[in-house]
Amino acid sequence: MDGIDTLRRVPANHIGGEWLAHADTMPAINPATGEEIARLPRSDARTVDAAVAAAVAAGASWRKVPVFERARICMAIAALIDTRREAIARVLSAEQGKVLAEAMGEVGKAADGFRLAAELVKQMGGETLPAEDPTKLVLTLREPRGVYGVITPWNFPVNIPVEYLAPGIATGNAIVWVPAPSTSLVACELMDAIAEGGLPAGVINLVIGEGAVAGDAVVTHPDVAAIGFTGSAATGRRIAERAAGKPLLLELGGNGPVVVFEDADLDAAAAAAAGGAFFNAGQVCAATGRVLAHRSIVEPLCDRLVEHARRHVLGDPFHQGTTMGPLNNAKVAAKVREHVDDAVAKGAGVLHGGRTREDLGSALYFEPTIIRDVTPDMKINREETFGPVVPVLAFDDDAEALQLALDSEYGLSVGVFTTDIVRGVEMARAIPAGIVNVNAGSTWWEIHLPFGGGSGTRSGIGRLGGRHTLEAMTELKMITVTMSGGMRP
Ligand code: NAD
Repeated sequence: MDGIDTLRRVPANHIGGEWLAHADTMPAINPATGEEIARLPRSDARTVDAAVAAAVAAGASWRKVPVFERARICMAIAALIDTRREAIARVLSAEQGKVLAEAMGEVGKAADGFRLAAELVKQMGGETLPAEDPTKLVLTLREPRGVYGVITPWNFPVNIPVEYLAPGIATGNAIVWVPAPSTSLVACELMDAIAEGGLPAGVINLVIGEGAVAGDAVVTHPDVAAIGFTGSAATGRRIAERAAGKPLLLELGGNGPVVVFEDADLDAAAAAAAGGAFFNAGQVCAATGRVLAHRSIVEPLCDRLVEHARRHVLGDPFHQGTTMGPLNNAKVAAKVREHVDDAVAKGAGVLHGGRTREDLGSALYFEPTIIRDVTPDMKINREETFGPVVPVLAFDDDAEALQLALDSEYGLSVGVFTTDIVRGVEMARAIPAGIVNVNAGSTWWEIHLPFGGGSGTRSGIGRLGGRHTLEAMTELKMITVTMSGGMRP
């Protein structure tokens, strides 16, 4: 049985608690076969207007629901996601292309995300502050911002939405959510669990459609107070311009690197670099992106990386034994192909992989790939590849390692491998990335920890994760009370 057999309903928008069909449609494609598996709504700005109106109406009462009741509903949603874990994971694999084991992991974490928001919101408080004026009592409270527009990508189409939806509703916001078109079926599955988990109608509204139409209508809508967006740097920039004046959470692209010094544990470094490049077929914002290795250890490191690549079995995500599925869509597959071809044309050497494997079922299969002799000018070093490729660049000393690491428009997540803790921390402090993991790969993160891009880079604005999202999705209100002073001791 593949995922599509477990679809709970015909894909539709979910607005004001109702599943609503839309006359204009677009295809949902199975990336493993290239076949159309369903028709999706291609919603327009009028649909967004209806969703925003539903969110405004529902939000007015939702913000008054006691925090403990909102937390209880988040826990109920988490329990339902757990119950439906395999069914949701099957749809995720069928539509996104990731292997079922990874899809099961993702859905499990989505349930954890609702539980985490439920726990944290019960502890989220304000402050009382002193003032020069002795008659003033000063309080701060955290209040919902209103209607949040949430726009999400296709690489983790269950987890990334939950990073906004769970803290968003826990803190009393209402939401209009536009998922990536190529993962809209699993968005319906998640929405179904949220609605049946007991969330009042209209608090989260799902609008399926093209980003440039439905997403843009959300971003520019006057009744949408704030935006949470995860996706590419280019779209993030456009959203920042179109949403001018609204509070933004922007989680954008990255490009590693994983830096491996000559004193590093090479087994650990290779395992982490390969894991970070091949997990989800490399379609991870925090993916390894590129490896910077001291010239003296390039050979043994590459040998180990090739060993990891060899162990992968590329194929249909539902087949027993498959460890890597197809890429999600033609755009990302074309970019991976272009980056590898550009590197080879400019003199890099492919040690393993490098081929598109249409024979496996569609043009979206790309082999786990190791490339050495990569130079800074190559696209694979400069841009985000978003595929199962490890490009290795050599450096001769610490200064050159830092220079290569800094020579990037991105600053999301970095790994540094060295047994010299001072060197590791100095490197970590010198790189303007949101996250630097010393002796772990660039993908290491847990959902309660702050995740986001460094300032001055193209990787985003703000931090997601744990209390950081709850704080970002709320507004600090200051209330002052002028006392008479008459009853002071
Ligand atoms: P994308 O920017 O093409 O699309 C992301 C979302 O934006 C989709 O839902 C899309 O429909 C929508 N969109 C497109 N144009 C829009 C517009 N003009 N207005 C409003 N919405 C619009 O990105 P993608 O290819 O779906 O996702 C991959 C990218 O996401 C990669 O760059 C990756 O690094 C990034 N990403 C970042 C993080 C992070 O946490 N930093 C996590 C995952 C993915």
